[in-house]
Amino acid sequence: MSDALMGTYKRLPVSFVKGEGAWLWDDQGKRYLDALSGIAVCNLGHAHPAVTAALCEQAGALVHTSNLYGIPKQAELGAALASLAGMEKVFFANSGAEANEAAIKLARLYGHNKGIDTPLVVVAESSFHGRTLATLTATGNRKVQAGFEPLVPGFVRVPYGDAQAIANLAERNPNIVAVLLEPVQGEGGVNIPPVDYLTQVRDICDRHGWLMMLDEIQTGMGRTGKAFAHQHAAIKPDVMTLAKALGNGVPIGACLATGAAAEVFGPGNHGSTFGGNPLACAAGLAVCRTLAADRLIDRAAALGTEILNGLHAALDGVPGVVHIRGQGLMIGVELDRPCAALVGQALEQGLLINVTAERVIRLLPPLVMDTEQTNQLINGVATLVRDLLASN
Ligand SMILES: *Cc1c(COP(=O)(O)O)cnc(C)c1O
Repeated sequence: MSDALMGTYKRLPVSFVKGEGAWLWDDQGKRYLDALSGIAVCNLGHAHPAVTAALCEQAGALVHTSNLYGIPKQAELGAALASLAGMEKVFFANSGAEANEAAIKLARLYGHNKGIDTPLVVVAESSFHGRTLATLTATGNRKVQAGFEPLVPGFVRVPYGDAQAIANLAERNPNIVAVLLEPVQGEGGVNIPPVDYLTQVRDICDRHGWLMMLDEIQTGMGRTGKAFAHQHAAIKPDVMTLAKALGNGVPIGACLATGAAAEVFGPGNHGSTFGGNPLACAAGLAVCRTLAADRLIDRAAALGTEILNGLHAALDGVPGVVHIRGQGLMIGVELDRPCAALVGQALEQGLLINVTAERVIRLLPPLVMDTEQTNQLINGVATLVRDLLASN
């Protein structure tokens, strides 16, 4: 059936045809508990009625015009996001990689405007920023880059979680214009930096006039128990990118900026045919309203604590379990050995989980899970891990 598709994905042997909240059904009628949310996309769960209603209404009125004209829904979503983030301006794209492309271009133009002809952006090891040429270059994973050289110049890499390593770059690199980081690394293994990391990076950026740019594509929209993960550190970035959960499954990305960064782009500097079209923005608005109306961000924090406590209770001290960590509903269980096989085993049992960085079980459940589903998730993961560690 998939013979006409390019071989870019190693797909699991299942096809889903219907969803509701945290449940999915395959084409055989089997039900699954989704603890991945389409990789942190469907934060409101599947087929959320508010998103469905907004999409139906907008599709019946107007799907697309062009950024040559005013788009009221885009202006409305821009204002909602700016207010939620305490930032000033928004550019809309269609994906995470595109949102990061906008941020990287913004940083370069910011540098050029300051007379820096070959601007450098600081990025981290184990990061993930996308699959376009600039964003795969920014990504700190050789597997993503291999075969696609020549990479894009203008990046310098540091270890993640080490603010001093960023500070140390300043002397030798007068061309640095920005730092691009994830507040918690997702694909890299649910890596949570030291508590004062973002505060220190903010301080370094302020001292040198660099833009602090945060990739909140996976961490944003309530995932970590705050609207945006950087709010745990009580700092504000100059630039922030969003995508994944912003449309609850409808493709949309955004690059937000504040202060001097908000004034960098002018007419002709950047653009997108689809970016911020009425349909995608209607979905984004429904997501913002539902997060607030149903207090889902607080719920993410509470559910995250519940799941983390449950996993600690079930797995602490089990030989082979290296670390159990999380922020809100972004949860990682690191083992001492590769564990990708767990994904297929979980699937057979009707549970969707993910393994990233080879040894880290990653859980990204929807923010709408209930206690029964949460317990099923904790017990399912704990049993799978115990069985794997006992078997070899
Ligand atoms: C998923 C992701 C991206 C890329 O988003 P796409 O929509 O796949 O282009 C970038 N950064 C982070 C942190 C992500 O998790």
